[in-house]
Amino acid sequence: MTKKYVIFKDDDAGKDFFSLKKWINIIIENDAKGAIGVIGKNLKNKEFSNYLNFLDETKIEIFCHGYYHSYIPFILRKMIGRNRIFPNEFDRTEKSHNKSLEKFRIAEKRYLKTKAACFGPPGNEWNEKVVEPLIKNDFKMMFSRSKIKGNIFTIPISKNLKHKSIDEFVKDYQKNKNDAVFTLQFHHADLTEEQFDLIEYVINFLKNEGKRIFIKPSELIDISQKDKELHDTLISK
Ligand SMILES: [Zn+2]
Repeated sequence: MTKKYVIFKDDDAGKDFFSLKKWINIIIENDAKGAIGVIGKNLKNKEFSNYLNFLDETKIEIFCHGYYHSYIPFILRKMIGRNRIFPNEFDRTEKSHNKSLEKFRIAEKRYLKTKAACFGPPGNEWNEKVVEPLIKNDFKMMFSRSKIKGNIFTIPISKNLKHKSIDEFVKDYQKNKNDAVFTLQFHHADLTEEQFDLIEYVINFLKNEGKRIFIKPSELIDISQKDKELHDTLISK
């Protein structure tokens, strides 16, 4: 049987430090792994960046979640149409994508001891002009709901943790049970107490019944080099 993997993707790190720590503690205590999307501008908060530098790199991977995180919620965009005054950070030009990614790299170099290999656009909103700036700024992979054209690995986003109980999660998971890579997206700042409690059950379910292996995004590069079938689902050339 081919191996199946799971990635926990958590967004918006730097906005709600208390909930972030709570989320990470649950991941570590339950022997799972997680990826946290850091908003570049928040790295100048020393308490936050010091905390990130103390995390176990073998368990937690930092990815770039934009520099400014300018993003208009979907419902608002639907109401006002395409917003030309305050467009999303990664729904602009190649030049502006490059500027955001460069600013992230500068802040990262200044405040963090690790370098992110992976990018997850704010609100999962992006356009194809982001590919060249990603390569130029040495990113290897990107979280996306649709496959990216070009030499960047696509890590599919499978589900959001919106569930209120393990039964509800398991039922929803059945649609994705055959996916080679199952990515569950979190927003620690929005999780309820019940959902924080649920994470432990979700981890155990995915490991035991789901027979999935927890990985960090960058581990996919090595894994897919040995697994051509998986490689072809992650990259289009
Ligand atoms: Zn976000």
